[in-house]
Amino acid sequence: MNNCALRFYWSCCFSGMLFCLGSADTLAQSPCQADALVQRNFKRIPELMTLRQDYLDRMANTPTQAQGRTVVSISVVVHVVYKSNLENISDSQIFSQLEVLNADYRLLNENASATPTLFTPLAADMEVEFCLAGTDPDGNPTSGIVRRETPWNNIGQLTAPDGRPRIHYTELGGNDAWSPEHYLNIWVCSIGGGILGFGAYPGTAPPAEDGVVIDPRYFGTTGLAAFNVPHHLGRTATHEIGHYFNLFHIWGEDEFSCNDDDDVEDTPTQRGPYLGCPVFPQLSCGNSAMFMNFMDYTNDACMTLFTAGQKVRLWATLNSVRAGLMDGVGCSTTAAHSLPSQGAKLHISPNPAGEMLTVEIENLRPGGMLRIFDLTGKLWLATPVGPGSKAKQIDVSGLPAGVFQLQIFSETNSRFGLFGKI
Ligand SMILES: [Zn+2]
Repeated sequence: MNNCALRFYWSCCFSGMLFCLGSADTLAQSPCQADALVQRNFKRIPELMTLRQDYLDRMANTPTQAQGRTVVSISVVVHVVYKSNLENISDSQIFSQLEVLNADYRLLNENASATPTLFTPLAADMEVEFCLAGTDPDGNPTSGIVRRETPWNNIGQLTAPDGRPRIHYTELGGNDAWSPEHYLNIWVCSIGGGILGFGAYPGTAPPAEDGVVIDPRYFGTTGLAAFNVPHHLGRTATHEIGHYFNLFHIWGEDEFSCNDDDDVEDTPTQRGPYLGCPVFPQLSCGNSAMFMNFMDYTNDACMTLFTAGQKVRLWATLNSVRAGLMDGVGCSTTAAHSLPSQGAKLHISPNPAGEMLTVEIENLRPGGMLRIFDLTGKLWLATPVGPGSKAKQIDVSGLPAGVFQLQIFSETNSRFGLFGKI
C-alpha cells in the first residue's frame, strides 16, 4: 500500500470536515489549486474518496514500464472559454503550449542543461507526447480546439448553486468535457485570485470535471502569455498535467513538514515550496532541495526536470486508471495538421504589408475562416475563405502599424503566420 498517496483519503475521512475546510482555505493562497481541489471535491462528493482509494490500489499494483511502447502520444482537447477577446487566445498560443509539453515530457527542454550536476543522473524522459486531437468523440475531424464565449468573469473558480464548477459544464457557462477516458481535457479560462491553474489527480473528480484548468495568461509562451513573466514559459501546464498523472508537489502535502514527501524515492524530502529562482544549493530537511523540479513552485525559467521516480508514478497511472489515453483515438489523424510546422504552407505577401495582403493557401478544406489578431490577442478582422481558394486578397488598410498574427481555420486544419503592417 502506498502510504503517502493515501493522505487525501485520510485527511477528510478521519480528521473531519473542519480539517478539510481549513486545508482548502490555506491552499486557496497557492498558485496551484490541485490539492485544494481534492478537498473541495471530497467534501462535495464523498463517494470520490472510495473511487480515489480504488484508483490508488490499482496504480500501486500496476507495472510501471512502458509495456513495449517507447513513447505514447496523448490526445488533447483545449477548451478555450473566454469572456473577453484577450482571453480568446490564438491557435498559435495553444501550439506554443504543446511545444513546451513535448519538450518538458521528453527531456528536450532547452534549459535541461541547467539541472545541477547532482541531479542530472535522475532527469527522465517521461516518454509521453501530446497532440491536439484530430478526431472528436463522434468520430468527426477536429482541430482539437473548442472555443466558447461565457458571460462569467473568472469562471475558473466559480461554482453553480449546486456546487458544480461552471467551467466544466456548457449549461453553466463553461464547456463540456470530451470523454475523459480518451482525451486529456484542458480548459483555458480566466481564474483570478493569483491562481495559475489546477489539475485533477486520478479519481478525485467526476469524469465531467476530469482534466486541468489553466489561466490563459499562463498558457503557452506567446500572445497573452508572453507578458506574464515569470510564468511565461508554459510550465504551469507541465506542472498541472503532472498532477493529472498523479504526481504530487515535490514537498508533499504539508508545506511545513519534513515528515511527508511526494512518494517518489529519488526526489529529496523537502519542507515546502520554493518560489522565484533560488541559487543552488538550497538545504531543506537535511537535503539539497530539488527546487528546479517541475512539481515545485519556482519560476518557469528555473524549472528543468522530472525524475525517473516521477516517471514510474506517471506510467503506473497510464498503465492503469488512465490507460484509455493510450488508445490513440484522437491522435491518429492529427499529427500532420496540428503542429506549428504547418505554418510553412501559408504564404503571406508582401510582408510587411501596406494596403493589401495576399494570402496563398494550400489544400484548404471547406468551411475556412481567416482571422487577424494583434499580439495581445485582439481580433481585428475575420472573413470566410475557401473551399478551393488558392489566393485571397485582404484589405489591411484599416490596421494600425505593428505585428499581427494571421490564422486560417477549416474543418480539418489550421495554419498561422505573422506579418507586419506598415
Ligand atoms: Zn501543483
